[in-house]
Amino acid sequence: MRITAQDLYNYTKCKHRVYLDANGNPAERGEVSPFIQMLWEMGLQTEIEYLQTLGDVEFENLENLSLDQAAGRTIDLMQQGVHLIYQGVIQSNELVGRPDLLLKRTDAGSHFGDYHYEPIDIKAGRGWQQQDGKRAKFKTHYAFQIIFYRIILAELQGYCPPLAHIINTDKQIEEFDPANFMAEFDNAFKEVEQLVGGDDTSEPVLGSACHQCAWYRKCRHWVERHQDPTLLFFVGQNKFQLKQAGLETVADIAEMDVAKYLRPANKIPRMGEISLARMKQRAKVALSGEPIVHHGFEFPTGNVEIYFDIEDDPTRDLTYLYGMIEQDGYGDWRYHYFLAESPDDEEKTAREFWDYVSQANDTVFYVYSPKERTSLRRLMERYDLDPTVYDRYVEREYDLYTDLVVKYSDWPTYTYGIKSIAKLIGFSWRDPDPSGANSIVWYNEHIQNPLRKDILRRILEYNEDDCRAMKAIKDYFERH
Ligand code: SF4
Repeated sequence: MRITAQDLYNYTKCKHRVYLDANGNPAERGEVSPFIQMLWEMGLQTEIEYLQTLGDVEFENLENLSLDQAAGRTIDLMQQGVHLIYQGVIQSNELVGRPDLLLKRTDAGSHFGDYHYEPIDIKAGRGWQQQDGKRAKFKTHYAFQIIFYRIILAELQGYCPPLAHIINTDKQIEEFDPANFMAEFDNAFKEVEQLVGGDDTSEPVLGSACHQCAWYRKCRHWVERHQDPTLLFFVGQNKFQLKQAGLETVADIAEMDVAKYLRPANKIPRMGEISLARMKQRAKVALSGEPIVHHGFEFPTGNVEIYFDIEDDPTRDLTYLYGMIEQDGYGDWRYHYFLAESPDDEEKTAREFWDYVSQANDTVFYVYSPKERTSLRRLMERYDLDPTVYDRYVEREYDLYTDLVVKYSDWPTYTYGIKSIAKLIGFSWRDPDPSGANSIVWYNEHIQNPLRKDILRRILEYNEDDCRAMKAIKDYFERH
């Protein structure tokens, strides 16, 4: 049995993934998605760029050694007291870690001598995240990996410094206190041991993140075969409580007596009458295969309708495209857009969009997520853009996902994302593999090959089709 830092990282995303990675049949594993591939490459590129900033600082580079070779060499180098090791391997019993850097520090001694080593990861993101209205929080999955290395190092050298560090995408050092994560980590670690050892399998929890996972096909097959509750929208992790209460399948949920699960003996935590009744309805819809549209929704009034979609690249913290369809004087729906041809154009493009909104009169902006608002707010704060234009946009925005699809309809699918819903009503994208994650991959290809017009066209066509899909969904509701 071998437990790695990646297992701890994956645990924060999906427990079943930890089990499958260690115990699954490799033949059932799918291809790595282009988006994940891109993240790996970006991670590697970030490391290379950081190492280049070290200038004359010498470091031992073990990246080309296998795990076993690097483990032996790392111990030798630590005993010699070298200043810095890149891609060293540390191991203790079944724990194996490969921190990006092992940095020699002389402010405390260890088994090695009057110095010790600290593990540091180089990340293609930032550790501390500002959350709307809440205190900044350090990313749990980053913290878990570093704590894992620290545990191994504590065994090897008999010491660990009190605080921990990463190097972020801006090549700045970020510090956090591992003590704040230890209780959570200890519980996670116990479960990871069980999952890697095969004593616990967990179960698939179908969600939107599954599309990027190499086990998607296998898990999808499993939930369909078991008619698992996660086939229903908004069930997710709640499925474990549902199953404990005896609601094992979609059919069980469709037939449940809601009142029974409101009584103390069978009460399902955090599930009231409305949630259970809605879930029951969704289960019936899933079994029938026919969506239901409920009464009561109203669309805002406005002379001009715009279907608007932003493309962001969270890996670069960048907004690169504002696309929209709008009716011209002849009644045709025309696509237009503001595109940051390179990441340096983000501010220019944001200002162009701000000018556009400032001149839009009596307009309704239809979107399909709360993301547009969040991105525009971030841009406003970043570039000191006119807040009255932002307020005007927010006043005129209608979120088809939150305010219409989720509230006023039920669909026979576990995700109400635009791809699922629009496909169910017969809409199709021109691209054979449309997704926001792929758009980010294409944008990164575009940056590297700015003269390749086909890549640019693919990004724009995909974004245009997202806008047209929104209109198709709104038209569907109007018809029903
Ligand atoms: S497909 Fe989803 S449920 Fe299955 S292992 Fe991957 S993330 Fe987990």
